[in-house]
Amino acid sequence: MKSLEDRIVSEGIVKDGDILKVDSFLNHQMDPALFREMAREWKRQFADAGVNKILTIEASGIGIASIVAEEFGCRAVFAKKMLAKNMDSDRYSTQITSFTKGKTYDVTVSKRYLTAEDRVLIIDDFLANGCALEGLMSLVRQAGATLCGCGIAIEKGFQDGGRKIRESGVRLVSLAIIESMDETGIRFREQ
Ligand code: 5GP
Repeated sequence: MKSLEDRIVSEGIVKDGDILKVDSFLNHQMDPALFREMAREWKRQFADAGVNKILTIEASGIGIASIVAEEFGCRAVFAKKMLAKNMDSDRYSTQITSFTKGKTYDVTVSKRYLTAEDRVLIIDDFLANGCALEGLMSLVRQAGATLCGCGIAIEKGFQDGGRKIRESGVRLVSLAIIESMDETGIRFREQ
């Protein structure tokens, strides 16, 4: 998506450890007009999928997911991160190791809000090694819900998550795929 790529180039800051900071429009301050454009693109690409639930993970996915849900005319649910183990039988849970913070979280979603009737589109801000998406897909499986696919704003194509997820047969739509980034600039995969 050209407008997202342009925004990444003009406002993104490349940090050590393969981290891209996009705090001015996505991870701290948010730009809902850009989120709306992103949501319309996912709606166009998943128009035939019968999506009736958006699933994301707190915190940065929530802003995007809520606009995506409005575009699909459904509700968005976010998986909650908890540091203490919570074996509550009312919840599905899995573990996710955060790429940026290096911590492992228990991630849970209420059985009330993810069920076998749901046709789920998973939405997240970044895809790096794929741990967050794997965890969210595990929650979908535990619920017996149907996975329609995954929508990612920014995939770092030089990390392994996208390749693994595509090879597993999951429909993955990343709106910007970064091939490489360093002090000389940010380069995108042609799509
Ligand atoms: P993964 O689980 O695929 O390794 O990493 C994805 C998660 O880590 C995303 O939910 C996102 O919050 C965070 N993340 C990974 N890489 C970056 C990055 O370069 N910048 C930012 N802001 N977040 C990232």
